[in-house]
Amino acid sequence: MGQYTPPLRDMQFVLHEMLNVTGALKKLPAHADIDADTINTILEEGGKFCAEVLYPINQVGDREGCTYKGDGVVTTPTGFKEAYAQFVEAGWGALGMDPDFGGQGLPHVVHSAFMEMMNSANQAWTMYPGLSHGAYNALHAFGTPEQKQLYLPKLVSGEWTGTMCLTESHAGTDLGILKTKAEPVGDGTYRITGTKIFISAGEHDMSKNIIHLVLARLPDAPPGTKGISLFIVPKFIPDADGNPGKRNDFKCGSIEHKMGIHGNATCVMNFDGALGTLVGEPNKGLNAMFVMMNSARLGVGMQSVGLAEVAYQNSLAYAKDRLQSRSLTGPKAKDKPADPIIVHPDVRRMLLTQKAYVEAARAFSYWAGLAIDMEHKHPDEKVRKENADLVALLTPVIKGFITDNGYDSTTLAMQVLGGHGYIAEWGLEQHVRDARINMIYEGTNTIQALDLLGRKVLADGGAKLMKFGKVIQDLVKFHAENPAMKEFSEPLVALLGEVQKLTMEIGQKAMKNPDEVGAAAVPYLRVIGHLVFSFAWCYAAGVAVKKLDSGDAFYKAKLTTARFYFAKLYPETASLIKQARAGSASLMELDVENF
Ligand SMILES: Cc1cc2nc3c(=O)[nH]c(=O)nc-3n(C[C@H](O)[C@H](O)[C@H](O)COP(=O)(O)OP(=O)(O)OC[C@H]3O[C@@H](n4cnc5c(N)ncnc54)[C@H](O)[C@@H]3O)c2cc1C
Repeated sequence: MGQYTPPLRDMQFVLHEMLNVTGALKKLPAHADIDADTINTILEEGGKFCAEVLYPINQVGDREGCTYKGDGVVTTPTGFKEAYAQFVEAGWGALGMDPDFGGQGLPHVVHSAFMEMMNSANQAWTMYPGLSHGAYNALHAFGTPEQKQLYLPKLVSGEWTGTMCLTESHAGTDLGILKTKAEPVGDGTYRITGTKIFISAGEHDMSKNIIHLVLARLPDAPPGTKGISLFIVPKFIPDADGNPGKRNDFKCGSIEHKMGIHGNATCVMNFDGALGTLVGEPNKGLNAMFVMMNSARLGVGMQSVGLAEVAYQNSLAYAKDRLQSRSLTGPKAKDKPADPIIVHPDVRRMLLTQKAYVEAARAFSYWAGLAIDMEHKHPDEKVRKENADLVALLTPVIKGFITDNGYDSTTLAMQVLGGHGYIAEWGLEQHVRDARINMIYEGTNTIQALDLLGRKVLADGGAKLMKFGKVIQDLVKFHAENPAMKEFSEPLVALLGEVQKLTMEIGQKAMKNPDEVGAAAVPYLRVIGHLVFSFAWCYAAGVAVKKLDSGDAFYKAKLTTARFYFAKLYPETASLIKQARAGSASLMELDVENF
């Protein structure tokens, strides 16, 4: 019953009119030749694949789910396997990957836009190639030349898929206490023994081989996170020609029954002396895994941009069509028995909240995608470092703020449909269920908040935050002479000032009591999220203001949405700042027995 149309106009607005990606990419020798037409064609064709192949199997995937057939065999829902074959055949998986291993070498920012559409169409399905991309990133950064030659071309083509096996039943957030063991065989390989849980795409029928990246401990490993190593553990051990050979010694023991993303298999994986090879240095596995986790965190942000977009589209279509009550200011659809619900102010609040969140999230995540291209490919080391710092600072904000808003957006979309949103027919309740996991996996949003405030802000004395402050000040300076921009730039500058004060205050309190960081972190991340979204809306408004005279209603809608953001969503920052200032005492006072 639902519908999905790739939002190409807004995607192109962000890519070309806001970010001028082709201009920026010209400075990177690897991408200097890419032009706007090529980017648009990729997005149009990619959008067709998402809307015509992935979206129609989204509800089917939710209803059927994956099936555990016993003896380690998992089947995916109807149509998943066939869609994956089409994906591989068309080369979509290779889009952002290294040409040395068969990839198409397109910029990360373009790949991000494609990922948004895939997630709108079918998040559960998209996780299969999504995890392969994370495994590719870790192996590309830390694999030996032999490992890269053996595994990367197959992960790039999509013939094989990848996973990340971190979690154990007693070790989720705290990976330092994981128990899976790796015993050296003596010939450079290892035997891996242990049970991993919650492994997405751990077993399925979509690819010829599955390459697991597994965290385990060597016999002499020091305790904690300093004693974790990373191993490649393939389902079928590649033979001398690099083809899937002998079945390795592990199996999927069961799959989880869960709230959403039913089409993605969440597996218990029992490793029983499985053969593996070490990735990177012994005991430095977390460094390699962090490459995968950071890429996955950005990927989870894109999952929520995608879900928020598709939920918005469906609630908007419904609100234009559904007739209930008359407008408070008198009938609008006089020829009909009632007005469409979009005339009611509160329905508009729900729609505009979604629109403001999703468009800012899109602008922010593509902006970050471009920063990743700069970080990896810019010839000037100073520029690479500047961008690396911005990406490091804002990765937890993409993961935390966008997924929190994504969930809120999907519930608002459901609310717009009233009871029809709650029943399965329209697909809205599936989006709510699917969106909920994004706040939990890849490090819960609390962990993102602690990472932001503790590691990214306070640990370097606010240096990275100041860099982002400079980016904001440059934008404001750029518009300083334009009075039409005051309504957008003034609240942005005011919030930057508040953030600087708040950060110093928390930093001082934290020196006396580390619980102050834990107490302030979650509201602090939300404040920084709003700082980024205020920046995004000011940036977008700056482009729209200049084009208002074109008569294109798109620009008027941009400005109206920017105004809505500053009038209705931004004010939340005042209460969040109060919460972040309120300290830890009221949280920590109560004895555990008295809860
Ligand atoms: C559907 C699904 C798919 C998944 N896919 C994968 C996968 O592919 N690979 C993989 O390895 N794992 C995967 N996971 C696991 C996921 O990453 C973990 O569930 C997540 O990291 C949280 O760990 P946990 O569930 O053990 O919760 P816990 O770590 O037990 O946390 C419980 C609560 O305590 C809080 N908490 C914990 N420590 C702290 C702290 N220091 N400070 C403040 N609060 C804290 C958490 O924020 C959370 O609210 C998946 C999970 C699910 C449900």
